[in-house]
Amino acid sequence: MAKAKTPDVSLVVPCYNEAAALPFLYAELGRVRDALPGRRFEFIFVDDGSVDGTGAAVAELARRDGDARYISFSRNFGKEAALLAGLEAARGTYVGVIDADLQDPPALIPDMLGALETGEWDCVATRRVSRKGEPAIRSLFARLFYRIMRRISDAHIVDGARDFRLMTRQMRDAIVSMTEYNRFSKGIFSWVGFRTRWIEFENVERVAGETKWSFWGLFLYSLEGITAFSTVPLILASVFGFVFCIASFVLACFVIVKTIFWGDPVAGYPSLMSVILFIGGIQLFTIGILGQYLAKTYLEAKKRPVYIVKDRSE
Ligand code: UDP
Ligand code: MG
Repeated sequence: MAKAKTPDVSLVVPCYNEAAALPFLYAELGRVRDALPGRRFEFIFVDDGSVDGTGAAVAELARRDGDARYISFSRNFGKEAALLAGLEAARGTYVGVIDADLQDPPALIPDMLGALETGEWDCVATRRVSRKGEPAIRSLFARLFYRIMRRISDAHIVDGARDFRLMTRQMRDAIVSMTEYNRFSKGIFSWVGFRTRWIEFENVERVAGETKWSFWGLFLYSLEGITAFSTVPLILASVFGFVFCIASFVLACFVIVKTIFWGDPVAGYPSLMSVILFIGGIQLFTIGILGQYLAKTYLEAKKRPVYIVKDRSE
């Protein structure tokens, strides 16, 4: 069904195997829509190559509800790709992003919209102030990641920041204009700038289904974030090199003085061995970092599409 009027609010929902959660989310979104009768909504469900019937479910929603649209990918491309596809498709004056599992409370949307409409803010974003219900080790590494990112990156990422946010059309345009293949939305949202207001809420556990993130998956994703928004690790090799130059110079002086005054007994094989292994380790480590950046550059150079659409409404 063609829309005569531009929607006021577009909400992008990335969905990967969310068939169990979708009915709950849709009911909540309906409540938000009813609470704001003056506004025209557009719900964009992006089915990220689900294999549990999510694709059929969102197509059905789009058929039944004139405000709902969907995009189905040819395979699983990841949440970042789903977000990009949804943002590109969004036509609203204000554009939002929300998870399908109700971990992002839709009930906050009216307040978020209210704040945007004052014209004082370009984006209203949310952060979790607690991580209850989450494994302790996961929280620990998450905190560590945010701390490292704050130090080494020009994209300031707030601890506990969710992707859940509502923004102006202007900010959405800026985000969509970033065509990089390695997408790290938390970094992109911050990197584009604009005035962001933060709303805090307590962690909510997902309503149905299960998380798509393993610990290892999250770990790799955090490395992705670091390489995407900081080149500081590349300096590490130079720093190590410099430190070792100084250390070897001092050591050389020490050996010369020692030989002159006390003679030169045979040097220890174990100490030599550990120094060689240590420096070899550092070399491999820094070459590995170089490799990470090279790999990212390689993927960017291929200019592959971020996602491939199999099916979509309208
Ligand atoms: N998601 C997606 N593609 C993926 C993985 C996740 O579109 O490959 C969606 C998922 O359906 C959900 C959101 O991204 O709406 C967040 O995923 P999840 O709840 O698994 O992450 P968590 O909340 O545990 O960080
Ligand atoms: Mg979730």
